[in-house]
Amino acid sequence: MARWQQGTVVENQHWTDTLFSLRIEVESFAFAAGQFAKLALDLEGERIARPFSLVNPPDGSPLECYLVLVPTGRLSPVLHRLQAGDAILVSQQSAGFFTLDEVPNGDSLWMLASGTGVGPYLSILQTDTPWQRFARIHLVHSVRRTKELVYRSLIHVWQQRYPEQFRYQPIVTREPCEGALTQRLPALLGSGALERALGDRLGAGTQVMLCGNPQMVTDCLAELAQRGLKKNLRRSPGQVTSERYW
Ligand code: NAP
Repeated sequence: MARWQQGTVVENQHWTDTLFSLRIEVESFAFAAGQFAKLALDLEGERIARPFSLVNPPDGSPLECYLVLVPTGRLSPVLHRLQAGDAILVSQQSAGFFTLDEVPNGDSLWMLASGTGVGPYLSILQTDTPWQRFARIHLVHSVRRTKELVYRSLIHVWQQRYPEQFRYQPIVTREPCEGALTQRLPALLGSGALERALGDRLGAGTQVMLCGNPQMVTDCLAELAQRGLKKNLRRSPGQVTSERYW
């Protein structure tokens, strides 16, 4: 049973009509980068709770979640309307296994995301661990439209700070965007186009993280398996660690 603490919204940043970041002040919340919190509201006499990955680093505050408004959902339309000062329930405890502790060592770390699945990477990359553990880090974010390429100023900091170690590759699938690839992730993996764009090869030293649309995760796992990269499981370590976002 989830135990709850009272949080207060300090900011609701709307990036587009449907994409938004909620910043929430809580008394305390311990988590590892890549994990999620549960957010909840009491709506029409019922407590509606959903898990949301954290974007802020574990030593940072307030808590921050990057969300999409799902029009048919019960919680996200209400979260979308919250304003600074509004109350929200936050779980006492974090959960989830999409953390670097679960990822074996390697030469390169490929962080592949669609949509809001970029969230956990933003938290992980704000910690020291990935920069200490991997010689090359690639953040690849697939979105429909250019305006959905969010958190660009944060990403720019890493581009400046780690020019040799870090590559950011946007993918925009529904309109032209300079510097972005245009095909979906599984196709880009299958054709080798992502490797060419990143100037890196999928090989024995590669660790891949996958997060976002469940079908994207399934299809990327299949493409990566073709290349000999197998799923990373606790009982059987491999090269691909994945999180289905819904
Ligand atoms: P999206 O905005 O549909 O897509 C983001 C990127 O992922 C786009 O580049 C898209 O390419 C690509 N993509 C979509 N399906 C793919 C697949 N099967 N394989 C590879 N790439 C794929 O965002 P989304 O994150 O996929 O979400 C889709 C819808 O699901 C949203 O409109 C949202 O309402 C809903 N959603 C629900 C929840 C939930 O918790 N229930 C959470 C997140 C999103 P294309 O442009 O080619 O499609």
